[in-house]
Order: sequence, then C-alpha cells, then structure tokens
Amino acid sequence: MRSVKGLLAGLRTTARTLRAGAHTAQYPHTSPDLPERSRGVIALLEENCTSCMLCARECPDWCITIDSHKETVEPPPGSGGRARQKNVLDRFDIDYSLCMYCGICVEVCPFDALFWAPDFAYAEGDIRNLLHDKERLGTWMRRVPESTWPEGYEGQQDTPVAPAGQLASEQVEARAAAAVPGDSAVAAETKDEAETKDEATAGEEPDERS
Ligand code: SF4
Ligand code: SF4
Repeated sequence: MRSVKGLLAGLRTTARTLRAGAHTAQYPHTSPDLPERSRGVIALLEENCTSCMLCARECPDWCITIDSHKETVEPPPGSGGRARQKNVLDRFDIDYSLCMYCGICVEVCPFDALFWAPDFAYAEGDIRNLLHDKERLGTWMRRVPESTWPEGYEGQQDTPVAPAGQLASEQVEARAAAAVPGDSAVAAETKDEAETKDEATAGEEPDERS
C-alpha cells in the first residue's frame, strides 16, 4: 500500500512538472535574462582609477597588470598652492584566461573604478585575446547596469562595445610594433615572440607589483 502511495505521489509530481513546460533556455538563439549583478566581465572607469595598485595586490590569481607614471600638476597661477604629483595610468590589463571571477578587485577598489557587467560571451579562439587592456575594459562600462553606477557618473553612450577579439588583436599588434629592444616586459608580449614562445612559458606574466 505504501509503495502505491509513493507511486501516485511520484506521478502527481511528474504531471505537475509536465504542465509547467520546459525551462531550457535556447541560447544563443535567445539571450538569457541575467540578474543585474551577474559577474560576467569587469569594466574599468579609467578616470576614477588612481593607480593605487590595491586591486592588483589583492587579486588571488595575479591577473591584473598595472603600469603608471607620475606627473606634476602645477597649481593655478596666483592661487598660492604648491605643485602636486598625480599618478597617470599607462596600462591596466586583466587576463581573463586566469581570472576566477571572485570579484575581490571590484570589492577592494576604494575609488569606484571597477564594476561588473553581465556580458559573458567574449570567448576567443586565441588565448592572447583574453587579455583585455584598459581601452577594452573601458568599453565594458557601457554594459554596466545603471543601478551600480558611481555617484556623478552619467554613462558613456557614445563608446561602442568592443567586438570579441578585434580590439585585443589590434592592441597585441600595436604593442609588438612599439616594443623597445631589451625591454623584456614588453617584448615578451609581442606577437612574433608569443607565437614562438615555449609552451611552458607562454602563460607567464611579468611581476609588476611593488
Ligand atoms: S575577479 Fe578575482 S581573479 Fe578576477 S581579476 Fe578580480 S580579483 Fe583577480
Ligand atoms: S584599486 Fe581601483 S583605483 Fe586602485 S588601481 Fe585598482 S582600479 Fe585603480
């Protein structure tokens, strides 16, 4: 008797589920309806970044590379102030082939310069294109949900979202062309060298943390 009851309960559940219809999302024919705070890709708001290096230091995967230089900002004439030094961001890369989407960098940034955007479809045929530089990370700002914008930010509607691979490839070429002989940190990333690099050293990033 108990087994018949169990069987009927099972059949009732099956009938209920059948009435509910299928829940399979037909991606990529239909886009998934993702929550606003999905961890898809990290966007960089460059004007807010002070090159403080906090995100690079806290990243458990060491996949953030930052370079900057200092510039002296003179006070307005007649103001009586002193000249001060300002960090200028030269390079901000995130290597998505290493990133584990933990969100620590976004959490620790004290200047609201990093944000999550829900986009996830930026897979690449060439692993080197998973290195997004500051220009490409900046284009993702357009995809950041308005509810997470920092105070005073009004969006970047005129900035196109980078098509997968295109900008990154152009930038690998540009970096290869600009590589200074003897500068291993830059030269190691040139396209020609990367193509001939030994597999064992292909994923190494220069340690630029201080
Ligand atoms: S999400 Fe985590 S692993 Fe990815 S760049 Fe940020 S801190 Fe590093
Ligand atoms: S923690 Fe924020 S402000 Fe500091 S370097 Fe990273 S992104 Fe820039």
